[in-house]
Amino acid sequence: MRLSTAFVPTLKETPTEANIPSHQLMMRAGLMRQLTAGVYSYLPLGYRVMQKVMQILREEMNAIGGQEFLLPALNPESLWIQTNRRDVPNFILSIKERELVLAPTHEEVIGHIASMHIQSYKDLPQIWYQIQNKFRNEPRPRSGVLRGRQFIMKDSYTLDRSWEDLDRAYELHAEAYRKIFARCGLKFFVVGASSGAMGGTGSQEFMIEAEHGEDTVALCHSCGYAANMEIATSTIAPVARRTQNQGLEEIHTPNVKTIDELVAFLKVDRSRLAKSVVYKHDGKPVLILMSGNDQLNESKLTAALGPGEIAPMPAEALLALTGADGGSIGPVKLNGFRIIADNRLKGANGLISGANKNDFHLANIDLERDATIDGYYDLRAVEEGEACPKCGAPLSVSHAIELGHIFKLGTKYSEALNIRFLDESGQSKPVIMGSYGIGVERIMACYIEQNHDKDGIVWNTALAPYAVHLIAVNTNNKEVVEHAERLYTTLIKAGIDILFDDRGNISPGFKFKDADLLGMPYHVIVGEKGLKNGQVEIKIRRSGARSMVAVNDAAEEVQKLVQSNA
Ligand code: ATP
Ligand code: MG
Repeated sequence: MRLSTAFVPTLKETPTEANIPSHQLMMRAGLMRQLTAGVYSYLPLGYRVMQKVMQILREEMNAIGGQEFLLPALNPESLWIQTNRRDVPNFILSIKERELVLAPTHEEVIGHIASMHIQSYKDLPQIWYQIQNKFRNEPRPRSGVLRGRQFIMKDSYTLDRSWEDLDRAYELHAEAYRKIFARCGLKFFVVGASSGAMGGTGSQEFMIEAEHGEDTVALCHSCGYAANMEIATSTIAPVARRTQNQGLEEIHTPNVKTIDELVAFLKVDRSRLAKSVVYKHDGKPVLILMSGNDQLNESKLTAALGPGEIAPMPAEALLALTGADGGSIGPVKLNGFRIIADNRLKGANGLISGANKNDFHLANIDLERDATIDGYYDLRAVEEGEACPKCGAPLSVSHAIELGHIFKLGTKYSEALNIRFLDESGQSKPVIMGSYGIGVERIMACYIEQNHDKDGIVWNTALAPYAVHLIAVNTNNKEVVEHAERLYTTLIKAGIDILFDDRGNISPGFKFKDADLLGMPYHVIVGEKGLKNGQVEIKIRRSGARSMVAVNDAAEEVQKLVQSNA
């Protein structure tokens, strides 16, 4: 492709709306443009990268026996009502006039096909996949294409007759995913994860560590334990039960609102405080008790409370309901609330918590004696430095971006959509399902997060829009043009993807800057000075290493480099 006629709108300045390197560089290198919040147009260079990603996805899915489908993005709303997912928060975009929705994932449509055509154990197992647009009602899309309202996903679905077969299909995917991310040149790790809106019995996420990631993970560098904060745990002491159990005592605590203020005012150990957090679950009030200043993790709360809408209770609603502010709420005589507590507080006594009237707290609370606790759950967010649940070494907490997610779905969708088969003895059973997703744009953006420098993107040959960037330094020089043109034609004939900067009236400095910004792996520079010695220059973008080669050997040298993938 000749840059003189190509549409590659590079930008000198970083657009102000882009806060993270991948977003900034995708804009500056002319890979994409935003149409509206969370919706992007891919320009020719960006789309070439996506096609390379999709080709890798296809090859690895085909290698595990996947069969490619193309399922409709438009779905009847009724199908999503059948699986109880119509109203999952931040999930579905809908077209009201026709009772249609835009599919955020495709378990439902896969289920529709499977329920019609899977009849016997002889029809199983199946691995079905597609590479298709997904639509999601993401509330505040930022971070560029990492979180779009429209994005492309490789999604696959497995249908099996037994749980052992599901395990096998899941492992096949885990292995294929490792190969995919390795081929893309990503440094990734795998964590245990929560199944969220998908439901099911087990799931893992493939992630990269990234300063700007929206996910948080706990990692043990000693034994390799890795878990999304949504489910991460640590070994942490429970609040000890005191042998001397004293009677309840009301204490006046004027203007004491926070846990820190309470610790300073009462001069007690932080672990004796039971912090109250108030939520609404399906409109009903829930009090959540946490030890000391432990932070509540909302995903764990969602898992503990079960299906239904969950939101923090607004201060005015709480005041209207109890007559007290958030800082004065506690578990004793709190009528009309469901009360749950973090595992650390199981059976604890000698606790201090709000008295359900402003400016008062209660001391010596015994949760078994003075309150009605509906259940104890793991609700707290793990913190940096706490002991690894597997080996005891200190955990580190990092930000991360999810590249892919694999789920053992089990029978949730087969039950809802009636996907059944007859086993060898003629008995009807639900099909056992798995689902597996990778974001195409996420791979591209995560690659850029990991592979850029101050000058621009650093592509590898696996994903680069073009393997070679050929520069004719000065197009007013006949000899330069002649040699550059000849190299261009030779390399195209050799099957090399090549971008040729043949633009006239552009300074060499500008051409070099553009080449670094676009980031093709190998730059071939044809200039007056080199040609005086019969040479052209080859630059490796990643290392910056430069070498001069005889102009007649250049094509062969470049081919060798591209093939060696150096
Ligand atoms: P996240 O937690 O980041 O929202 P998710 O758990 O909702 O992701 P899945 O439903 O498992 O994601 O989707 C599979 C894959 O699709 C993700 O691993 C990610 O690569 C990609 N993906 C999900 N949501 C988006 C989005 N809004 N924009 C771009 N890619 C996405
Ligand atoms: Mg999501």
